[in-house]
Amino acid sequence: MQEFYRDTWAEIDLDAIAYNVKQIKRIHPTKSLFVVVKANGYGHGDVEVSKVAIEAGANCLAVSGLDEALRLRQSGIEVPILVLGMTRLKDVPLAARHNISLTAHDKMWINQLVQLPLKEKIKVHLKVDSGMHRLGLMDSDQVKECYEDLCRASMVEIEGIFTHMATADCDSEYLDYQIRQFRHLIKELDLTGVKYVHLENTATLLQKEFQFDHGIRLGLGLYGINPDEDFIPISFDLKPALKLFSNVVQVKKIKKGDKVGYGATYEASEDEWIGVVPIGYADGWIRLHQGRNVIVNGVECEIVGRVCMDQMMIRLPNPIPMGTVVTLIGEGMPVERVAREIGTISYEILCLISDRVPRVYKKDGKIIAVKKMRFE
Ligand SMILES: *Cc1c(COP(=O)(O)O)cnc(C)c1O
Repeated sequence: MQEFYRDTWAEIDLDAIAYNVKQIKRIHPTKSLFVVVKANGYGHGDVEVSKVAIEAGANCLAVSGLDEALRLRQSGIEVPILVLGMTRLKDVPLAARHNISLTAHDKMWINQLVQLPLKEKIKVHLKVDSGMHRLGLMDSDQVKECYEDLCRASMVEIEGIFTHMATADCDSEYLDYQIRQFRHLIKELDLTGVKYVHLENTATLLQKEFQFDHGIRLGLGLYGINPDEDFIPISFDLKPALKLFSNVVQVKKIKKGDKVGYGATYEASEDEWIGVVPIGYADGWIRLHQGRNVIVNGVECEIVGRVCMDQMMIRLPNPIPMGTVVTLIGEGMPVERVAREIGTISYEILCLISDRVPRVYKKDGKIIAVKKMRFE
């Protein structure tokens, strides 16, 4: 097993990933489950997460770009992989060679795709824009025309058709509008033979029941996180898979009036114990965390002074031994709270954890692998 030589690490519970897959499979037993592992599996590790999710019952993978898909293929994964973003036309033959499914998102792109001299069939999912106005076709005539062009092309297989919801975690009315709009845009298509009609991201699948789609795209829920607990109450649990830890590397007593960190922005209001924690913005622990709390021995301790590139300081209630564990994300400090307190979303906190932070993988309570992505 790989070793790592620093006091900061992310722990990923692969049993939690498997558990979450099974929970979603339990409520949607008949639908194909695409697990979304873009951005290195939301920071958890794409290959490790994919393998465990597939073992637990996931049917397909979804990523953002072709590089991410190729990485998964190179790791020996054989299930269908869908690229959700736009793929350049010159890269289509490469995708076809590796049996990677692409998103057909634009009329001009589709016109050129069907003229490519392909040696292998390319699988595509037609992307319909039902109201988010990101990728996809938004006009019903255009959807129909493009669909028929793709049907006629001998080297193209339409494997799926899909759309994406903009407000499933915050506005049910607009969500309902988008669902109606999606149904309207595809109503004239003969979809027999299209394997996957899919529209549900985590927030949608946690609150809606549909009969007409055959696939769900599970991102944040795979990692055990509800996009918005207040807006989407669910009656079953998901288990968060990632924890972020560090160890205190120095403890010192400062005097009332002493200052801490770059810019000397913190001044001790009495004699205080300060701990140095070796994590900083180069690890994705950005400067906005100044003034927030971390957990040490079950007690909340404030991050004082500016977060540096590689280190930060915390105020301790009393002296503690060097090496004491600091929980930045985990028990007592869920990622949802971390995100809320700096005005962002859990997705961003997780993706920001940089590849300098080693990932420690646990299964059945035991460490089974360590990944040092930056140093591979
Ligand atoms: C990222 C993404 C998802 C997953 O969304 P979650 O909210 O994480 O479940 C699904 N579909 C598309 C098109 C995406 O880009």
